Amino acid sequence: MTEIIDGKAVASDIRTGLLDSIQTLTDAGTTPCLATVLMNDDPASATYVSMKHKDCKEVGIATRDIELDPETPAEELFDTIDDLNADPDVHGILVQMPLPDHVDEREVLRRIDPAKDVDGFHPENVGRLVAGNARYKPCTPHGVQKLLAAADVETEGADAVVVGRSNIVGKPMANLLIQKAEGGNATVTVCHSRTDDLAEKTRNADIVVAAAGVPEMVTGEMISEGTVVIDVGINRVETEDGSELVGDVDYDSVAEKASAITPVPGGVGPMTRAMLLWNTVKSAGDVADIDVDLP
Ligand code: NAD
Repeated sequence: MTEIIDGKAVASDIRTGLLDSIQTLTDAGTTPCLATVLMNDDPASATYVSMKHKDCKEVGIATRDIELDPETPAEELFDTIDDLNADPDVHGILVQMPLPDHVDEREVLRRIDPAKDVDGFHPENVGRLVAGNARYKPCTPHGVQKLLAAADVETEGADAVVVGRSNIVGKPMANLLIQKAEGGNATVTVCHSRTDDLAEKTRNADIVVAAAGVPEMVTGEMISEGTVVIDVGINRVETEDGSELVGDVDYDSVAEKASAITPVPGGVGPMTRAMLLWNTVKSAGDVADIDVDLP
């Protein structure tokens, strides 16, 4: 029987698990607060930002919602980030990507105070993650780690294949899986667009994490019986009736062989959102110097 790993349910448990900590912090005068900065006209980005605000509101996390015209000079964005860095009531800062061409994304990531970098993309936080001393684990790979734990998947000693080497998913995912820590201790192979014979790698894996952004590219033929398959991909594809969301995994053929699989939607997506709340609460706890009990 293939287990369908229910990301919605696990994410809901994590949100519920944060409620006590949020209350404790709020009672102590530190209401966790996430600030978002949106500087593009992309409707999808606006939707992502509004979902983040909704998620925060539901658990009692305060929000700041800053929108800048895409034509705004980069200096103004940096000033905005500086203000948020200096604001003691703000614990997490998230600058929604993509940014307009005249803004250097790397400079933006460096500008955010690492202590408020709840995405975990500041070079200091990337370094800490790699060194095994993470302050914030990036939300998507952290969510995958939580999903694997919730499904009782043993990572220690497992052969894991991560398909994708992006800075936001593939690389931090591989880093988390190799850490000498709970949810790590796997032997990790990182595959990418130049990998020779991807199927040979995935067939030898106990765990496959697909994060390539290529619709349904991991097929049943590429998977061995009993593999755990985590589908990070979110791809909108045209259908006869309009469009639909599919992952990087060909769900039907892979589910026939996998021991456990995440659906799209309803797998990794809800976890990414939940882990942003998690990081924001962690940040507020650090600022308040209160040892919060994180789920
Ligand atoms: P990206 O485009 O930055 O990186 C894709 C990676 O996949 C690259 O490293 C590339 O080398 C590799 N790749 C591309 N084609 C390949 C192929 N044919 N074979 C092997 N490797 C290949 O994408 P990303 O930001 O890492 O996102 C990956 C996917 O995950 C996208 O579908 C994205 O929408 C989705 N995503 C989902 C969540 C979530 O919350 N579920 C979060 C972030 C990203």
